[in-house]
Amino acid sequence: MKRINVRLAYHSYPILVGTDLDSQLKGLLKIHLGSNRLFLFFDSAVYALYGQKLEKTLAGNKVNHVSFVIPSGETSKSHSTLQKIYDYLLTEKISRTDFILAVGGGVATDLVGYAAATVLRGVKWGAVPTTLLGLVDAAIGGKTGINHARGKNLIGAFWQPSFVICDLKFLPTLPKREFVAGLGEVLKYSGLAGPKMNSMLQDYLKSGNLLNLNKLQPLVQMCAEFKVKIVMADEKESDKRMFLNFGHTFAHAIEKTLGYGKLLHGEAVILGLSAAVKLSKKVKPLFAASLDIYENQVIQFLEFVRYYPLQTENVLNNMKIDKKRAGQIQKFVLLERPGKPFIASGLKQTTVRESLKECLTLYKEVCENNG
Ligand code: NAD
Repeated sequence: MKRINVRLAYHSYPILVGTDLDSQLKGLLKIHLGSNRLFLFFDSAVYALYGQKLEKTLAGNKVNHVSFVIPSGETSKSHSTLQKIYDYLLTEKISRTDFILAVGGGVATDLVGYAAATVLRGVKWGAVPTTLLGLVDAAIGGKTGINHARGKNLIGAFWQPSFVICDLKFLPTLPKREFVAGLGEVLKYSGLAGPKMNSMLQDYLKSGNLLNLNKLQPLVQMCAEFKVKIVMADEKESDKRMFLNFGHTFAHAIEKTLGYGKLLHGEAVILGLSAAVKLSKKVKPLFAASLDIYENQVIQFLEFVRYYPLQTENVLNNMKIDKKRAGQIQKFVLLERPGKPFIASGLKQTTVRESLKECLTLYKEVCENNG
């Protein structure tokens, strides 16, 4: 097991990464709960698979707890589900010394974290992510929130948890597409973190078994460590945290062009990374060769993504609309080489178009070859 310490100006807490971390969870709850009550929140699919076992363990340890199950799916990250959570917590007379625990993917940790941030002006909480995306990204960094009819994640708060338990034992039951979506973010970190993580990822892929937890665990650790380092330097996302958007400018536009619900976000990130690498090579041609190994990795990941036809111009238009609405100039996180990201702005539209076009052609070819 690996312990990563998140040290912020006003709050420090551990992130534990490993397999079968129930005893660590019990230990941390003991510290944070005392004689107070635990409010457990589960994603419904996770509750069906793991809920009763966890409740039994807690009851065996005389933890005074109650459970609430959230319907799985992005639609739960809504004002109406949040309202139900408030109603429940207030009816149960939660006090500020009680503790909230979210068990599930990014939907559960974002939603429940936000409920914890706002009910009674803030109650302590912990996160037990159960998706790969949750382990490497959503549960790390203290960003919580819900969606609004006008867009995703528009309502929220920074509310750091008291601990995060990244337990890989949940991953074998995750649907394959959700797993691949999480791998998309791992691939992003691999580009940002550099050659060491690149070769660990290669080694993991070579093993031919995506559920090789022994090889996956050090990768999850590196992702969490990388994000923690950035969060510690820039908790509220003013500059450095932007690097975490590597591949995302393209990915968001791709998701929007297809209509939400076709490609999962992490799948779109894989495509976005492919376009971002191509753009990086054009913007800094002298360094292009240093991105070859990483680009090959991105191609291997493209094989996991199901094919949807996409028109370059439609994706470009969606990228422009997004930026215009936000009143910002178009910025891209690019790589000089693995481990050396930089922010590029004011790029020629033709260069962006060419990179995207090449990426979409490659996507088609890879998917056709894959049948
Ligand atoms: P999710 O929470 O919707 O989970 C995906 C699916 O997997 C769901 O159907 C869920 O029921 C199921 N599931 C979860 N764990 C399982 C398990 N162990 N076994 C079987 N099924 C399981 O999706 P996600 O990809 O984890 O998270 C996406 C959300 O995370 C988005 O809303 C996104 O905005 C948010 N997010 C937040 C941050 C952040 O910094 N706060 C970062 C990235 C993403």
